[in-house]
Amino acid sequence: MSVGRCVVLVPAPYQGHITPMLQLGSILQSRGFSIFVAHSEYNSPDPSNHPSFSFIPLPDDVADLDKSFLNSLNVLDAINANCKEPLRDFLVQMMENEKLHGQIACIVYDTIMNFVDEVVNNLQLPSIVMRPNTAAYVRAHHTVFQLLAKNCLPLPESQMEDDVPNLDPFKYKDMPLPLSLEMPERVFDFMKETYEIGSSRAIIWNTIDELEHHHLSMLQQIFHVPFFCLGPFHKMAPPSKTSLLKEDNSCIEWLDKQQPNSVLYVSLGSIVAMDDKEVMETAWGLINSEQPFLWVIRDIFANGAKANAQLPDGFEEIIGERGCLVKWAPQKKVLRHSAVGGFWSHCGWNSILESISEGVPMICRPDFSDQFINSRYVAHVWNMGLELEGPLERGKVEEIVRRLMVDEEGKEVRNRTIDMKHKFQESVEKGGASYQSLNQLTDFISSLSS
Ligand code: UDP
Repeated sequence: MSVGRCVVLVPAPYQGHITPMLQLGSILQSRGFSIFVAHSEYNSPDPSNHPSFSFIPLPDDVADLDKSFLNSLNVLDAINANCKEPLRDFLVQMMENEKLHGQIACIVYDTIMNFVDEVVNNLQLPSIVMRPNTAAYVRAHHTVFQLLAKNCLPLPESQMEDDVPNLDPFKYKDMPLPLSLEMPERVFDFMKETYEIGSSRAIIWNTIDELEHHHLSMLQQIFHVPFFCLGPFHKMAPPSKTSLLKEDNSCIEWLDKQQPNSVLYVSLGSIVAMDDKEVMETAWGLINSEQPFLWVIRDIFANGAKANAQLPDGFEEIIGERGCLVKWAPQKKVLRHSAVGGFWSHCGWNSILESISEGVPMICRPDFSDQFINSRYVAHVWNMGLELEGPLERGKVEEIVRRLMVDEEGKEVRNRTIDMKHKFQESVEKGGASYQSLNQLTDFISSLSS
């Protein structure tokens, strides 16, 4: 019996990174590659969601580390150090048992898992980098490195509103500058490590060439390897579950009872949280807007206490049937639902791709990392959302919700989002840009070790 070729994926252990990597696995599997997922034990994906993949947990020794957001760099450093040997051992074993598993065509890794480069170089295996963010975000890194080299950081407050030269239409306040400069060297080193691609032969992007053509062309002058833009991944792959948390499907029954386009979906992804005051102001803003809403409040919002502990007293009675709260939603299903007419989002890239793919306009409330770049794209370049800036106050929340969900302005924003949805569809259909790019990637991977 002949065995085919396999691809080994190495995802980074966060929801926004695991999701696109698993989707990429489904895409490559549809092109005949068998898929192995070598992942850290921390935040390991659920193998039962992908019975046709082989999952290989890499011992990471981070069980006792503080997993709070501010300590994430230390956790990633430990994973990058501790997973090296286990990955090497696994790949050696695979190479020795080629007759059983098929030849390794290549390793695809998330740039955050930069330890992979050393391992594959030692074993002389080809690798490809997967970037889960936009090309603009990667270019913004370059801007930050230039500021650093010129000793311009931290930037004065007065410069934040200025346009970044050669990075139109982004402003300095959109750049991925560290939240604090307490350990700047390590933060900047990490940014450089995730920017570089080592000896990788190509970059796979979860973006659409038409959206980011200019930034991709500029990056092509820096990274001299083929680019493959297959976005949005989730529309290129058969649907699959990728959530690390349990999805609460009860909200779909609630959505079934709502009017078309009437519900605002509020979700800040897997990391961003609100403080007590923000939860309270958001709650009153939503109540006062008089619009139906579905709000995801993860447990962490309440520091381990009851998830809705910070909500106004009697909140659930006040909202009655007009609101629905869950701890984690089946987001793609929610956005596909005809009752959903708007998405208050932290502007994680997966969330934006999912929202545009269903023609759902957004309220943009970025918090850190690439979210500012993504928000500028959505609110100011593509005009598919409204930006909610400054401290959260109930009056502002009420106003922006009504602007998106009720006013003429919201209808125009929705129409533009629907136009873009159609472009996304064209891109993934036979003959479309992402579809063609996948054909090229399939040939490219097949050529790597033949
Ligand atoms: N998500 C979900 N249910 C929720 C909230 C989020 O399934 O209640 C999914 C969402 O569909 C997306 C991912 O979690 O695919 C979040 O990724 P994103 O890049 O938007 O944000 P991050 O979590 O990385 O900040």
